[in-house]
Amino acid sequence: MSRVEIIRGDITQSRVDAIVNAANCSLLGGGGVDGAIHRAAGPELLAECRTLHGCETGKAKLTKGYRLPAKYVIHTPGPVWRGGGHGEEELLASCYRSCLTLASENGCKTVDFPSISTGVYHFPLEKAAKIAVSTIADYLDTHPELERVRMVCFDPRTEGFYREALERLA
Ligand code: ADP
Repeated sequence: MSRVEIIRGDITQSRVDAIVNAANCSLLGGGGVDGAIHRAAGPELLAECRTLHGCETGKAKLTKGYRLPAKYVIHTPGPVWRGGGHGEEELLASCYRSCLTLASENGCKTVDFPSISTGVYHFPLEKAAKIAVSTIADYLDTHPELERVRMVCFDPRTEGFYREALERLA
């Protein structure tokens, strides 16, 4: 059975070791999934984020989950899509790898991701879905400590692209 799964849902409800936040480089909150995570986690999350002094695109930083059902939040700023000639694809793959590496280092067995960069950052969904599932699958091949990684899709269109990308991988 595959350890990569696609589900539809709200990632703030995920009861897992770590959820990933599609953050911005300030790590001080924003709209979309970032805003939802901060609202659900409570003000303690922003307080810890302030101590981290931001994060580069493609890298990741870990905090506690506070009032979330998830134990940790892994914050990663995805690339803003600027036409594809600015390293966007490699940076997006780097987001997924950086988050999974931090998850492993912190003893996480279950990790849930949102669709990084495909909201206000406008990364083309079909491309983003292929990069996400292939990067996750490659990582899992060499990291048996991770039991399950899910893509939590907020809407049916996003879910459809991730399902297709995962089917093509098989
Ligand atoms: P980015 O700035 O990286 O593009 P966004 O938050 O704008 O991030 O969008 C990323 C994805 O997260 C989009 O598919 C958006 O619909 C989705 N999203 C928004 N809220 C939630 C949520 N509560 N749970 C899961 N996904 C969400």
